[in-house]
Amino acid sequence: MVRRQGLALAARRRDGPCHPLVRTIATPPGGLTAQVVDLGRGTPEEFEAHATDLSGRIALVRHELMFVAGTIHRRRKYLAALEAGAVGFLIAGPLPGRPVAGSSVSMVNVAVGQPRALRRSAAADSGVMPAAGMPAPFYPASTRTLLFDLPGRTEECIVVSAHVDGHDGGESAMDNASGLASLLAATRALAPLVKDFRRGVRLAFFSVEEWALTGSAQYVQGLAQAERQRIALNVNLDSVGGSPNLAALSSGFPGLEPFLLRVAEMSGIPLRTVRPLMQNSDHANFALAGIPALRLVAGFDDPGANLRYVLTPADTRDKVCRGGAEAIRHPDLGHRRRRLQRRAPKGRSLAHNVRQLEYRR
Ligand SMILES: [Zn+2]
Repeated sequence: MVRRQGLALAARRRDGPCHPLVRTIATPPGGLTAQVVDLGRGTPEEFEAHATDLSGRIALVRHELMFVAGTIHRRRKYLAALEAGAVGFLIAGPLPGRPVAGSSVSMVNVAVGQPRALRRSAAADSGVMPAAGMPAPFYPASTRTLLFDLPGRTEECIVVSAHVDGHDGGESAMDNASGLASLLAATRALAPLVKDFRRGVRLAFFSVEEWALTGSAQYVQGLAQAERQRIALNVNLDSVGGSPNLAALSSGFPGLEPFLLRVAEMSGIPLRTVRPLMQNSDHANFALAGIPALRLVAGFDDPGANLRYVLTPADTRDKVCRGGAEAIRHPDLGHRRRRLQRRAPKGRSLAHNVRQLEYRR
């Protein structure tokens, strides 16, 4: 709901592309001009060291890989800038000359620039340079969450979700066309089996995930207690292409890990589990409501994975390599069928063996 904007760097007498952060607030009419203080990555230590520099100026930090332990979310950097009295906030993207998008920041003035152009120089006064940001217009728009139920034998269900929205810089191919394609392919493979399962499958196509997980938050908040009880698990597919290495973020539910590792082993899929709750996709809203929830994501803890291009104009279809997504959406489950069959007690069916993988809440 915001247009791409320009960022003028007066010290270099040049303009550069920039992109407002989602939920940003507009700069005053005509833009905002202030000096920029370069805080590098934007760690708490860097903010502390520049505590006396920031009042009335614009804080500049770096975008960093989100799928890694120890990542510092842009929201924390923004709040540190606000606390120090900054009047604007810029994030430099990982690709020279190209902006990066982002969300979950509110009340921000300006966003996103070019790392090279924004680098400190002797021309700047004590490492600061003037910059002018342009307004970020808002207008009303609406979207919806789509649900589709495949009933099982009881009223219980597994919610399998993927968000349908993305940022406008590239194609949002990894984040999250890869999750959406995987959800559809896995559904096609499972659909004939679900009626024999104890639990049904509810497909949830959430929107405005990129806007602070709003679609799934509204969905979970709108559930009556009895409905929440009927959801045994949320499996959220978000950015599952871009690396062959798949990780499950198990949201602090230790009971999920043995279940996931058993399924992965029986299916022949290498899987890493990461226990701390990470509020970086729709599964977090289920987890915060006490519903066991996990996110599958590719390339976790791998700075070289294509996932480093998520939120940039380089999130394009050529980055979605076979691997993580392929493991989820294998079209006919062929090799997994054979593996499961091999491990089957004599005379038992595939459906029986799939049922043995049932998650016990
Ligand atoms: Zn996503």
